[in-house]
Amino acid sequence: MHTYECSSCGMTVNATCGACDAPLENDVLTRDDGSTVQISKCPNGHGKIKSPLCCGADMTCSLG
Ligand SMILES: [Zn+2]
Ligand SMILES: [Zn+2]
Repeated sequence: MHTYECSSCGMTVNATCGACDAPLENDVLTRDDGSTVQISKCPNGHGKIKSPLCCGADMTCSLG
């Protein structure tokens, strides 16, 4: 089962934590200037990364 999908071309990515193998959860980070960045985080607190990009846009997380 994939966790991220591109809404433009249908490309899918499995994003899992390297430490515990859990599927990464979608989250949003708010910068100092008020803009938001879509990120992926480990549900068990191992860290977070920028969401994968495809076709110049953030891929959407199918897990919500
Ligand atoms: Zn794409
Ligand atoms: Zn983890």
